[in-house]
Amino acid sequence: MQYVNLHNHTVYSDGKDTMEANVEMALQANMYALGFSDHSYTPCDESYCMMPQEYGPYLQEIARLKEKYKGRIAIYAGLELDYDSNPDTSMFDYCLASVHYIVRSGKTYAIDHSLAQQEQCCKDVFAGDKLAMARCYYDQFVAHVERCKPTFVGHFDVISKFSYMPEEDPRYQEIAVEALEEIVKTCPYIEVNTGAIARKCRTTPYPARFLLKKMLSLGAKPVLGSDSHQKENLTFWFDEAVALLKEIGFTGIAQFEGIGFTDVMI
Ligand SMILES: [Zn+2]
Ligand SMILES: [Zn+2]
Repeated sequence: MQYVNLHNHTVYSDGKDTMEANVEMALQANMYALGFSDHSYTPCDESYCMMPQEYGPYLQEIARLKEKYKGRIAIYAGLELDYDSNPDTSMFDYCLASVHYIVRSGKTYAIDHSLAQQEQCCKDVFAGDKLAMARCYYDQFVAHVERCKPTFVGHFDVISKFSYMPEEDPRYQEIAVEALEEIVKTCPYIEVNTGAIARKCRTTPYPARFLLKKMLSLGAKPVLGSDSHQKENLTFWFDEAVALLKEIGFTGIAQFEGIGFTDVMI
């Protein structure tokens, strides 16, 4: 099937390749559309994101490419919004909501950076209580989605990236499921994110299988995203993700068409 991927990073934030190199690769991969979703400005960590003054040039480059590739591939302007970023999104075609940090007492802990940072966060902020850390992360996610009303939700359970969370523990699963139930009321479009497979941190996408099953029962819609930071990964593990979704019982995925999603049979 022909894919669209709305979760991609370029040299405008922490990606490796230019936008144009990504577009050329998307054409080679027979994609019908491509969206750019570089990181929005996060005051707690300026090392990987765009600065507010970079949104203008970012949008101008997307506009240039939209025009240049018109009739060959649709190109969309997106933004990955973090918990503490609050930009004006009216100039963008879409945005996705993700949570990458827990910030406490002026200290920033990255959720998806390393196992060591997760351990440090749990020790410093939650006295070693992993479930308290999970609850904090998922509470932030619910609040974030309710506030920014995204087009879709990015890597919902990225906190499981380094297998530090007790994913088999029913108490952990309950915390994650309750958050998912709340989020789906605001935004039913949930990313099936294959980025951690490309980085060899996981062998399956986010969300975890128990959450995918819950998504199915809630009527939530899967949106494929590779969270690509290099052009070779634009559709990484998409065929496998579709097979996984079918096996779980999904009959369709949500594919972006510019003003919203269309259900495409799988
Ligand atoms: Zn992210
Ligand atoms: Zn991302």
